Amino acid sequence: MSRIGLYAWGGPGTIRLLKVKYHNPCIDEQSFMGLYETDFLSEAKQKLGVTDMWVTYSWGFSDDTEQEDRLFISERLANFQQYGITTHGYVQGPNLVTSEFKMTDVFCRDSRGRLLPYSKGRALTCPNNPTARAIMVSRVEAACQEAFDGIFIDNMLFGLPPFFLRSDYTSFFGCSCQHCQHRFLSEYGYALPLAEKKGSKVITDYIDFRCRTVTELVYDLSRIAHSAGKQFGINLYDPFWHGSELHFGYRLPVIQDALDYFLIENHALEKPSGIDNTHLVPLISSTSKPVFIVSYRNGIGYDGAYSQHDIQAIWNEAAVLNYFPCLKATEFVTHRTWHALQIEQIESLTTETNTPTRQMLHLPKRLKTSSKIERRLVQYINPYYARLVTLALENKHLARLVAQSRVSIRLARTRRLYELPQ
Ligand SMILES: [Zn+2]
Repeated sequence: MSRIGLYAWGGPGTIRLLKVKYHNPCIDEQSFMGLYETDFLSEAKQKLGVTDMWVTYSWGFSDDTEQEDRLFISERLANFQQYGITTHGYVQGPNLVTSEFKMTDVFCRDSRGRLLPYSKGRALTCPNNPTARAIMVSRVEAACQEAFDGIFIDNMLFGLPPFFLRSDYTSFFGCSCQHCQHRFLSEYGYALPLAEKKGSKVITDYIDFRCRTVTELVYDLSRIAHSAGKQFGINLYDPFWHGSELHFGYRLPVIQDALDYFLIENHALEKPSGIDNTHLVPLISSTSKPVFIVSYRNGIGYDGAYSQHDIQAIWNEAAVLNYFPCLKATEFVTHRTWHALQIEQIESLTTETNTPTRQMLHLPKRLKTSSKIERRLVQYINPYYARLVTLALENKHLARLVAQSRVSIRLARTRRLYELPQ
C-alpha cells in the first residue's frame, strides 16, 4: 500500500468541541494534545507506515475562539515534514457551533424556521446563504496560507436527510431557509414546498436544486485550494451505502473532477475483527484517483480503542481490495473516557493478502409509492422532525437513551440506497 492515512483530530479545538458535542465527557486531554508531536508521529510512521494525516484546522467555532487551534497546528506542521507525512488541513463544511453564531443569519431552517441540528451544540448552515458561504470560503483561504499539503472539507451535508421516502412523496429534507426559497423560485418558477415534497417532479427538481448548490460550493472551494497549490478532498461519507443525492446532497459523478482523492467514511468494521468494503470495489477498480477508506464499527463516540486484530483486519482488506486504509485516530471512548489513538499500545502491522472477501454489492432499492395513511402520518410528524432530533441531542436523558438503545448506530449502519424518482 503506497499511502496510509490517519484521521486525526487533535489539539485544543478537538477537546473544546468534545465538550460542546457531548454531555460532560471525561476526556484524556493529553492524548489529543500529543497527536501532532514528534513522539507520536515517529511511532505512527514506524508501526503503521503513515503517509497522510487529516489534522484539525477549523471546527466551526468563531474566528476568535479558533485562533489557538489554528496556531496549535500551524506550529506543528514542521513535525509532519520531518517524517515526510502529508498533511490535510481539516475544515468543517456547512455547519457551525450554534452558540458562537447566535446573532448571525447563517443556519439552515425547517418549514417553521427552526434550526437543523448537526450534533449537540452545532447546526447546519446553508450553502445558499451568502454569509454562511463566505465563512467557509474565508476558512479555506486562511488554511491555504498555512503549510498544509492539502485542504479537506468535512461533513458536506446540505440540510437534513429525509426521514421518509417514497417515489411520489418525501418528508422534509434539505433546507427551507429564505435564501433557498428565493433561489428555488427564481430557478424553477414555482415556490419551494417547505415541508414534505409531493409528486415526482417536485422531488426531482428539489434533488437537482440541492445537488447543484453543493456542486457549486465544492468547485468553489476546490478552485481556492488548487490555486494555492494544495490537494483537495471532502468527506464523501459512503455514497455506495447511502444514496448521496438524498441523504447528503451531492452527486459523485458531478463533483469528482473537483477532488484529488476519494475519502469514504463508513461503518464497515464488523465485530469481531472483520471488515467488509467489497461494495466499494467498483469505485476502487474504476478510478485512477486514490481511494482512502476510514471504517468505523459503531461510529464516533461509540467505539472503544480498536484492537491489534481490528487494525490488522483493515490493513489486510486494504491490501486485497487495493485501497488506502485511513485509520480513525481519535474520539475513541474506552471505559467512558474519550481518547485519541494510543499508538504505544499498537504493534507493527504486516500486510497479508490472503483475507477471504465476499462480494457484497449494494444495489439500490426501488422506492414504493406512498399510501394515504403514510402521507397523513408524515404530514403530522414533519413539523417536529428538526425539533425531535435537536431534543434527542440536547437533552441529557434523551441523549443517553438514544446511545443506550443504539438507535443511532443502527441507523448509521442500515443501508439506504434507493433508485431516484424519475
Ligand atoms: Zn437554505
